[in-house]
Amino acid sequence: MNLIFFGAPGVGKGTQAEKLAERLGIPHISTGTIFRAALEQKKELGLKAKEYMDRGALVPDDLTTAIVVDAFSQPKNSNGFILDGYPRNLSQAKALETALRELGKEIDNVIYLTAPKEEIVQRMLSRGRTDDTEDVINHRLDVYRSETEPVLIFYQNFELVTEVYGVGTIDEVHERVVDAVKVNTES
Ligand code: ADP
Repeated sequence: MNLIFFGAPGVGKGTQAEKLAERLGIPHISTGTIFRAALEQKKELGLKAKEYMDRGALVPDDLTTAIVVDAFSQPKNSNGFILDGYPRNLSQAKALETALRELGKEIDNVIYLTAPKEEIVQRMLSRGRTDDTEDVINHRLDVYRSETEPVLIFYQNFELVTEVYGVGTIDEVHERVVDAVKVNTES
């Protein structure tokens, strides 16, 4: 099963994608987590990504697409994957379609997590990541509205999107996600 977790920064994609990945036994591919890990290990990828992440800007598409394609092309990931934080603009969505087609794969379902803006801003401020200051958060929300939201329409046109309300306990939201995954998938 090939899934995308979609939604605003801070909506809980990472938490829910991780939990679902464990339950389904498939990898959770988070571009943000990959960039942060690369930075911690002082790899070039991490150092390059940092200058964009610190501003709340998108890391360039070529860098980002390369790490995602590398992750889901690995034979150990052939049972499926959950993408979290990718695609984040239309050109990434198109690059993803091309890469999947070449591998004979396709997206089965896009889980769209939602929460009120005040809630997601509070969550980000309380997790205290270095890119979670008020100015950077506001910029990320602007980028989300202008660049990332069009990706939702792209997948809605393919009737792949299932909306899940992201407010509640982690377990409550998880059960909603599990129900949503059953939509658009036979198994
Ligand atoms: P959040 O969901 O709170 O925005 P992420 O960990 O998903 O946190 O992303 C953190 C940062 O990593 C983004 O602000 C951006 O700079 C970079 N990033 C993550 N995914 C992508 C992507 N698909 N394209 C470009 N930049 C990305």
